[in-house]
Amino acid sequence: MPDKVSALYHQPLPEELFVRLGQALAGKRVQVFFRADDIGKMDEEFIRMMELFGRYAMPLCLAVVPEWMSRERWQAMDRFSTADPLWCWHQHGYAHLNYQSQGKKNEFGDVRPAEAVRRDLERGREHLAAILGKAFCPVFTPPWNRCSSVTLQLLQELGFKAVSRSRGVQPQAELPDLYVNVDLHTGKEANPAAATERLVSDWDQGIAQGRLGIMLHHQRMNERSFAFLEKLFQILQSREGVVFCTFRELL
Ligand SMILES: [Zn+2]
Repeated sequence: MPDKVSALYHQPLPEELFVRLGQALAGKRVQVFFRADDIGKMDEEFIRMMELFGRYAMPLCLAVVPEWMSRERWQAMDRFSTADPLWCWHQHGYAHLNYQSQGKKNEFGDVRPAEAVRRDLERGREHLAAILGKAFCPVFTPPWNRCSSVTLQLLQELGFKAVSRSRGVQPQAELPDLYVNVDLHTGKEANPAAATERLVSDWDQGIAQGRLGIMLHHQRMNERSFAFLEKLFQILQSREGVVFCTFRELL
């Protein structure tokens, strides 16, 4: 059973919502990428998500937690043809641990010395590169979408090509930020109406910016979330102005 399902999926999604999402795309040219976080374990929802993306030949950026990945798991994931250019496997933190004693959760915040941060970035990257080989893309998605400016400098020094956070985090010049601006599963709205309004507003803003970066958390997906995602694929694929990509094409 998925945990903490967003209020968006607490009741059936109104047909009107799909009409609004589709209409917002009319006549627009928009780049679209999907980013799925917390990758590493082969659970039921992960398998279902991968099968859905595969069925629609939809590209997906997969943020892999180095500590959660092993050669055995990577081999098992090859049932989805891991080398397929549809997938963009990249780094999601190191162990997905929170080091902040207060405030917002952060694995790469400012409470640890730069050396400790560098070690985690480096060993995470080496671990993934050794297991994933050519399939590894040097982009970093920090857990909880946030990291310190020291981390950004280190990422650049270590040769990462981009970071992927969420829209509205502090600006920085070190690296391009291929940020997400639509959150399908971790919104904290209290009720479906508020969650729907936020989704529509984020969707419209992303389209206005020319790019939708859609964030997924498969562990939180229930039956309705999967049905919604599939419907979203159909809407997006029916629009001529939509260009699907991964980080590789955006770099
Ligand atoms: Zn995460």
